[in-house]
Amino acid sequence: VTDSIKYKRILLKLSGEALMGSEDYGIDPQVINRISKEIAQVHQLGIEIGIVIGGGNIFRGAGLSKSGIDRVTGDHMGMLATVMNSLALQNALEKQGVKVRVMSAIGIHEVCEDYIRRRAIRHLQKGNITVFAAGIGNPFFTTDSAASLRAIEINADIVLKATKVDGIYSADPVKDPTAFKYEHLTYDEVIEKKLAVMDTSAVVLCRDRKMPIRIFNMNTDGALMQIVKGSNIGTIVTA
Ligand code: UDP
Repeated sequence: VTDSIKYKRILLKLSGEALMGSEDYGIDPQVINRISKEIAQVHQLGIEIGIVIGGGNIFRGAGLSKSGIDRVTGDHMGMLATVMNSLALQNALEKQGVKVRVMSAIGIHEVCEDYIRRRAIRHLQKGNITVFAAGIGNPFFTTDSAASLRAIEINADIVLKATKVDGIYSADPVKDPTAFKYEHLTYDEVIEKKLAVMDTSAVVLCRDRKMPIRIFNMNTDGALMQIVKGSNIGTIVTA
């Protein structure tokens, strides 16, 4: 790792929706390949990468419960959706020549490894990208909380949350022309201003362990690379 690289170990959070591209469901192969290429380029620098991926492109427990499915069952379905996305991402990353391990918070032994913290850290040290599937493994949580939790567990330097917008805005920039982007916010500001960027429990976890979060737009080519080289694009959330 050279001087121009800011982080040794990162936790990248991708939403399931990030994989959809312009579709309204599932995975767009072009999009997952582009994202994988960018991740592989960052990996080439020697940065250790853990990834948490969501499942919102397939199922979300809250959405399923509106259509009459029991919430806990729906959350189980949502967690399984994140496993599917993790497998797709593993495949796409392997095509870029990187070694990848998927570790699931719920046991699915024929398909991927169990999440075991010490083994995850070993994978990272060996240069394997580690994809954390099935969130934290419990209903009523989201993969944002999983990203915070895993980042803290593996001693990541930062949570990099990839979104469809350039950072955290004061209001929805599509609906409100006066909306502006914050360069920096504190954890408490994110919570108090109810900036719907990450759920509160995910922010609180990071706040209590002083884990920085950077929100950025993964649709901007090269954004991830710029960030690991120290660029201040997006919005940083710290104490
Ligand atoms: N989920 C859960 N526990 C977790 C993580 C996820 O029950 O620890 C379920 C929940 O139903 C959630 C779904 O999995 O809606 C997909 O995750 P998420 O909504 O975080 O995906 P994203 O919005 O990032 O695509």
